[in-house]
Amino acid sequence: MANIVEYDERRATLNAYPDRIISPPNPSECCFSGMEQVGDVEEDGSWLFIYKRCRACGYTVRHFLMMSPKAMGTIRADLLRSMQVKHGQN
Ligand SMILES: [Zn+2]
Repeated sequence: MANIVEYDERRATLNAYPDRIISPPNPSECCFSGMEQVGDVEEDGSWLFIYKRCRACGYTVRHFLMMSPKAMGTIRADLLRSMQVKHGQN
C-alpha cells in the first residue's frame, strides 16, 4: 500500500482520498485539536493504520493503530515454535 499523502507547501491542500491527499509539510497549533479520521482502516505490511487530517489546515499523517491480525498470528507461531525448541533442549 503506497502512501497517498504528498507534502507540498506550494500547492493548496487537497483531500482526494483514497487517491491523493495534499498536506502542508508541517503541523500547526490547530492540528492538536482538529485531526479527524479520513477513510477506513488500512493495512501496510504488518500494521493497521488510518489517515488523520486536520480540519483547519489540511495537515495529514498516517496514524498507526496496531499490528495486523495476520502479523500477530505469525509472531505467535514463531514464539510457540521457539518455546517448543527450548523445551526440547531441557
Ligand atoms: Zn492543522
